[in-house]
Amino acid sequence: MTSGVQPIRGMNDVLPADIGLWQHLEATLRELVAMYGYDEIRVPVVEHTELFKRSIGEYTDIVEKEMYTFSDQGGDSLTLRPEATAGIARAAISNGLLRGQKHKLWCIGPMFRHERPQKGRYRQFHQFDVEALGYEGPDVDAEMIVMIGRLWRMLGVTRVRLQVNSLGTPASRAAYREELVRYFRGHEAALDADSRRRLGGNPLRILDSKNPDMQAIVAGAPLILDHLDPESRAHFAALKSALRATGIDYTVNPRLVRGLDYYSRTVFEWTTDALGAQDAVCSGGRYDGLIAQLGGESTPAIGFAMGIERVVELLRGAGVVPVARAPDVYIVAPGERAAAAGLALAERLREALPQRRIAFGLGGGNFKAQFRRADRSGARLALVLGDSEMDRGVVAIKHLRRDAEQIECPVAEAHARLAAVLEE
Ligand code: ATP
Ligand code: MG
Repeated sequence: MTSGVQPIRGMNDVLPADIGLWQHLEATLRELVAMYGYDEIRVPVVEHTELFKRSIGEYTDIVEKEMYTFSDQGGDSLTLRPEATAGIARAAISNGLLRGQKHKLWCIGPMFRHERPQKGRYRQFHQFDVEALGYEGPDVDAEMIVMIGRLWRMLGVTRVRLQVNSLGTPASRAAYREELVRYFRGHEAALDADSRRRLGGNPLRILDSKNPDMQAIVAGAPLILDHLDPESRAHFAALKSALRATGIDYTVNPRLVRGLDYYSRTVFEWTTDALGAQDAVCSGGRYDGLIAQLGGESTPAIGFAMGIERVVELLRGAGVVPVARAPDVYIVAPGERAAAAGLALAERLREALPQRRIAFGLGGGNFKAQFRRADRSGARLALVLGDSEMDRGVVAIKHLRRDAEQIECPVAEAHARLAAVLEE
């Protein structure tokens, strides 16, 4: 194959055999956000590189090594969005949506990160993203989390668990950060190369290390929960009591930090034991400082992102079967005269029975060939229109999936008879 017809590594096609699961998930997500009063927003897939650097943070995996950045013909540095929050925050500012107003927003679409492709980790992947702008919480934090819990129930997904933590305010986090750096400096010889690099720029990320050799040092590190300011402590306590009141299962993980710089107070993550190493399915948190940091008016906010590919895999694993796409009726109309009449009849049937899938036997061929195709299509009924039916002004309705007598009716009554037979 020439490189022009090879896909880009880590970027996948979603083929018709899989699309049923995607559509089922997307339809359920739309139903969910409608229940909770979120409105859809659509933002561009490219933004100025600067936006991501300023929001996600210079010392994060995404900005350090995962962004698809290029300069356009005008010499501007642009980046394919690696996540959605920055673009939505930018859109809220540049469209003047804030000004003391509140917004509950969601979007879905492709994100791009130059990572090492493996199962559950791709370079183009899709996220479902939800943001509540202008809400201080913790009520909205709790509502958002239980909304995700409801989604798992609607989808029949059971192998997920929820962890929550609080990162405090920027000030309490800065004080914690200093203490963390002091602690890790005391163990510098035992740090791996990644952690040593993070010590300068983003020491909280060391707590996120996946390296087994680092686990003992991480386990001994001071905890952010012991450094919360009183307001953040009260905010977190109220979140936990709201969660308890709903009966949702959760664990407090004092080492849950999250890779992005902009989080404050509430952070949470849903993981699964059903997908192997790529176990994060949904993560989010509060980012009260982000909008002001980007030049908008100070607006508290919280959001989360869910990895669609990983949830599709969870659905597959849970035995969710894509909805059958077989036609209800397949029109068999051999010969030139019948073919022309059959095509027109198919249109009238689609008009009269818009909920039904009507397939017309494209490609011609004799009775036998067309019946073979009708059978292979999985259709329940064949509507037969041959020369003899044409001469008599009738059509024949034949069951393809069970033994039953063939029915004949005048062409003009075909839609009514089909509707009745399909109801049986
Ligand atoms: P991970 O720890 O797996 O790298 P992350 O912390 O980088 O995840 P977020 O930036 O929080 O992930 O994105 C939210 C969700 O998007 C993740 O929980 C995951 O389900 C999904 N996701 C992130 N990166 C990828 C990717 N490269 N391919 C597929 N899904 C991804
Ligand atoms: Mg990542």
